[in-house]
Amino acid sequence: MARNILNRRKFLETAGGTVAGILAFRRSSFSREGAEKQNKPAELITRTLGRTGVRVPIVSMGVMNADNPELVRRAYELGIRHFDTAYVYQRGRNEEMVGRVLVEELKVRDRVVIATKILLRPQQRSLPVEEMKEIHRRMLEESLRRLQTDYVDILYSHDVSDPDWVKNPALIESLLALKEQKKVRFIGFSTHQNMNEVIRAAMEVKVYDVILTTLNYSLYDYAEYLETLKQAAAQGIGLVAMKTQCQQAWYRESVPPEMRRFYEGPIIHSALLKWVLRHEFMATAVPGFTTFEQLNTDIPVASNLEYKEEEKKFLEDRLVKRQMAAVCRACGQCLQSCPKGVDIPVVLRAHMYAASYGNFYQAREALDGLEPERSLQLCADCQQCQAKCVRGVNIARRLDELKILLA
Ligand code: SF4
Ligand code: SF4
Repeated sequence: MARNILNRRKFLETAGGTVAGILAFRRSSFSREGAEKQNKPAELITRTLGRTGVRVPIVSMGVMNADNPELVRRAYELGIRHFDTAYVYQRGRNEEMVGRVLVEELKVRDRVVIATKILLRPQQRSLPVEEMKEIHRRMLEESLRRLQTDYVDILYSHDVSDPDWVKNPALIESLLALKEQKKVRFIGFSTHQNMNEVIRAAMEVKVYDVILTTLNYSLYDYAEYLETLKQAAAQGIGLVAMKTQCQQAWYRESVPPEMRRFYEGPIIHSALLKWVLRHEFMATAVPGFTTFEQLNTDIPVASNLEYKEEEKKFLEDRLVKRQMAAVCRACGQCLQSCPKGVDIPVVLRAHMYAASYGNFYQAREALDGLEPERSLQLCADCQQCQAKCVRGVNIARRLDELKILLA
């Protein structure tokens, strides 16, 4: 145990201060000091969320990692109108905070778009339709109770990576039933992995109104995916971007000191968020700001997508582009290289939650959702990791870091 603590401390000290920095940031999120410095921008750019017809500012709030109600309140005051949470975030406290601030205190339920997500574990995905409907009904009722409302605007099936799941008739029937009961205005799913394929599948079935998907600068050369997004939007699917600032701390690993200013100031955040939102097929993005400083960096992007000189330099820098290759795209191409069948993309996402967001609970949630035959436990007996990334992500190192962080 002592060894684990020492290792964890050592990791925190040696990982470029990343995790320690995040924890410090999270502490500072309790202070509203500085929040008032950001005046409400004159006008936020809005876009229509596909066939829903709902117009929202291009910057929304991904509430997942936030635990300060004042931040939600301030986001609303600055013009943000779309708030993204989930049943599992912070064991329900995240939904409770959204309900308390927006519904109970500000009384603006009819002026905001609330999105939440329901996660069915892999073993629940083959249940008969009536059982699946019952699970969805119970979980949604609980979410509505926490949110203090009788409907959500968007209900996502959470964390979809299998195109067959998108097409599953029981899932579709369950979601549509909630829509018919008017407990949900629009249905959709969130996807972090295999995004291109699951979105293509959604375009075939034509029942999903909104998709919450990963889009960030590390995907700048993934032309096929960008084309899929464009076509999905043209079909009327409302697209919401997440993981926009790709805070996967490891791309800083080999950055020389003179380049670190790109990664340590606000430029990285505004440049990356602008890059996403300059794709007009994305209706909005849900950056997961957890501090007033981050909110104050993100909100001006909502009214001006023109790059500043520094932002352009950042995005065009060869080294920055090279570092982006170390960001996991969750393409799944490494799966065959692990002889034990570990779900490496999910494990790396758990690493991102722990090492980049400082959200250990969400990291464990992601890992707990894995079936035993795909879980991180299988790595315990491996002398040397043989898994290989097609892009250059150092999988073995991430696994070691994750074990230390979660020890
Ligand atoms: S580690 Fe590499 S190969 Fe594996 S999912 Fe991520 S980007 Fe793809
Ligand atoms: S440590 Fe072993 S089991 Fe784990 S991902 Fe690497 S090769 Fe697979």
